[in-house]
Amino acid sequence: MKNELVDRYGRKLDYLRLSVTDRCNFRCYYCMPEEGIDFVQRKDLLTYEELDYLTGIFVNLGVEKIRITGGEPFVRKGIMDFLSTLTRHRTLKEITLTSNGSISEKQIQELHRLGIHKINISLDALDKQRFFEITRRDKFDEVFACILNLLKLGFEVKLNCVVDGNKNIADIIPFVKLTAHYPLSVRFLEEMPFNGTGKFEVPEWNHLALYDYISSHFKGIQKVQDGKNSTSVNYQIPGYQGTFGIIPAFSRTFCGTCNRIRLSATGELRTCLYGPAVTNLRDVLRSGANEASIKTEIRDAVAKKEKDGFDAEELNAKTPKKSMSFLGG
Ligand code: SAM
Repeated sequence: MKNELVDRYGRKLDYLRLSVTDRCNFRCYYCMPEEGIDFVQRKDLLTYEELDYLTGIFVNLGVEKIRITGGEPFVRKGIMDFLSTLTRHRTLKEITLTSNGSISEKQIQELHRLGIHKINISLDALDKQRFFEITRRDKFDEVFACILNLLKLGFEVKLNCVVDGNKNIADIIPFVKLTAHYPLSVRFLEEMPFNGTGKFEVPEWNHLALYDYISSHFKGIQKVQDGKNSTSVNYQIPGYQGTFGIIPAFSRTFCGTCNRIRLSATGELRTCLYGPAVTNLRDVLRSGANEASIKTEIRDAVAKKEKDGFDAEELNAKTPKKSMSFLGG
């Protein structure tokens, strides 16, 4: 059997999103409630050894890219050592990270040394007060300093901005203008129903509205070539250093080229963010399963991957949606 993960629609899954924690030092309103969150107990979290072992199995199955996510990866103790361990998987072509910008200067230098050069930072407002209202934390200056530090060291930085018609529309144009001065990519995301409250309204500011709005402010927007499995549709303002993109995260127009598989910090394996966990690899591993059995478990999960996020969501219709922090955004 070939060492690759291919689903029944012929999509090759070679991109693993690995969550290392469900905890976060921010409380973004679209991700989790301010209080009363049931964080996972330590014993239920995959240990770093288990995460590394499972990573090895995924890499053997053809995974070439890993994104470390959470929760906030940098709140878990020992994260830098874990990242260093991951770099030893020889056939892994790329390790990337998603963070809210809680990365110290020293950690940034260490990431650079480890060969981790691409980072996504979540930032939903350039206005300090709105940043506070969204994240419920007064940390704008630290996050912006982190972004500047990353750029200074030559990291490829993408900013992820979740757009909400009631919160940060006034930040959209300043974000695009930021790309005039910095070689970064700002990506505007539709809000998804993973706020951990069970309440959600279909976003009015969908990808079409976002493009209309931006294009009414700038002349001559140019289309930029999108990556093969890109979820963002990317553009550039002529003469600007950076680019901007729009991610139809709720409209789900990109499922046809999906190459992703997700492992939560508790071992839940998902073949779609919108779908249920297909299996729990922590339980499989802790029950004493050998490598061959774990591979079979993963292959079986992949074989059942739904055509798109709508079909996957159907399977999950009766379950209240979890927080993105738990799912591993
Ligand atoms: N703490 C890290 C961070 O802030 O990037 C990693 C985890 S966070 C859950 C990953 C991404 O999910 C962030 O870009 C965040 O904005 C996004 N996210 C969380 N909840 C979301 C929601 N309901 N809709 C859209 N994006 C969401």
